[in-house]
Amino acid sequence: MTARGQIGTAPLDFLTRFQLVAAMNPCPCGHLGDESGLCHCSAEQVSRYRGRISGPLLDRIDLHLEVSRPREFPLQHDGPAPESSASVRARVLAARDIQDQRAGKTNAQLDGLVLKQFCRISAADRKLLLQASKQHALSPRACIRILKVARTLADLECAADINTAHVAEAISYRNCRAMRAFQVTLLSLRACRNTSITSPSWSTACHKSKRTTDLRPIIIQQR
Ligand SMILES: [Zn+2]
Repeated sequence: MTARGQIGTAPLDFLTRFQLVAAMNPCPCGHLGDESGLCHCSAEQVSRYRGRISGPLLDRIDLHLEVSRPREFPLQHDGPAPESSASVRARVLAARDIQDQRAGKTNAQLDGLVLKQFCRISAADRKLLLQASKQHALSPRACIRILKVARTLADLECAADINTAHVAEAISYRNCRAMRAFQVTLLSLRACRNTSITSPSWSTACHKSKRTTDLRPIIIQQR
């Protein structure tokens, strides 16, 4: 895999293949959003803190997730056991196998005609993506990556086609704060996943659902 760059006016292809996984605190003190109320950071401090990471770098990170502080001490967890890493691994490997059989490469490596062929979405979903793109000033690169993530979400479900839920979920993984509205929509959408989704007006109908939802682990595989 190569990354294109340039020195002066000379274009260069850097041979590279890596997966970036990074974490940061939500604010300088690390307590923003906690129930503890310990955070007294001002909006300006938070903004300055987050501004240390450039927009172009953030644009290249496909999955942004907010992780809240656990309410209980981890070893005192009395609820049902979480899904094991082995089980998650098996799901990820199955999805990778689907990608390999389909295109001989991962979804992250799709481009050109192959990307168009395997990441096809409905007209309604294109509208949804366009709406998100305009609303949150997404770059063309971000939109393409959203399609690839949506394809992966479909693969994790062994679904032949990308559907509205996959597109909405992929959108929600962009800049998480800016996409909060989409996350709300997504949760509602997941709550009524069995509902037939035929038009962009699904969000209104789905918001009426009261069923609980679950968010499962996902894989990170974009360049
Ligand atoms: Zn703080």
